[in-house]
Amino acid sequence: MSEKLNDLFANNRAWAEDVEAREPGFFTRLLHQQTPQYLWIGCADSRVPANELVGLLPGELFVHRNVANVVIPTDLNCLSVLQYAVDQLRVRHVMVVGHSRCGGVMAALGNVRVGLADNWLRHVQDVRDRHREFLDRLPAERRVDALCELNVLEQSRNLCRTTIVEDAWARGQDVAVHGWVYGLHNGLIADLAITASGPADVEPAYEAALAALHRRFGDG
Ligand SMILES: [Zn+2]
Repeated sequence: MSEKLNDLFANNRAWAEDVEAREPGFFTRLLHQQTPQYLWIGCADSRVPANELVGLLPGELFVHRNVANVVIPTDLNCLSVLQYAVDQLRVRHVMVVGHSRCGGVMAALGNVRVGLADNWLRHVQDVRDRHREFLDRLPAERRVDALCELNVLEQSRNLCRTTIVEDAWARGQDVAVHGWVYGLHNGLIADLAITASGPADVEPAYEAALAALHRRFGDG
């Protein structure tokens, strides 16, 4: 085993000891149940570690990550996480979290071939094409971050349209969908205000968030 990997195990032992020292019995309590209130659907990018960014401990945040935080109704991996989180864990909030300067979004925007992920990023290109006129009006250097945010809005709406979220709302379950974006340059999360707590919220929230995005990027 390389020295670098030994470092990881040493770090892990130090972390576990630290957690246990601050809160004796922490791990044995988690054995019995997890009761997270939140499901985070974010990008796989190593610079966006979900728990750390929002200061939550093990047991407090259910997480699904993929390249460019895509939510599509044919992805059984994402849907399985979503269904377990909503139906079994009964999380109260599901947030789609994009981030600025996202490599997946950059590749999609510029038609850069990166490999197998090209097929996955086709979904982000669909977002690009839907908002092509707006993106074309922006200065080139603003387009990536604009598409990062547009992608969050579209994926949040996709999330609202899954049978899992629709069924939860139909039976009166209290679960809200949010769209956030994380700034790599300053470590801060911004709420894109596309929050929906029921089916009637979805389109008005989407339209308002899109209009706000256009204003933020100096358009419309
Ligand atoms: Zn990313």
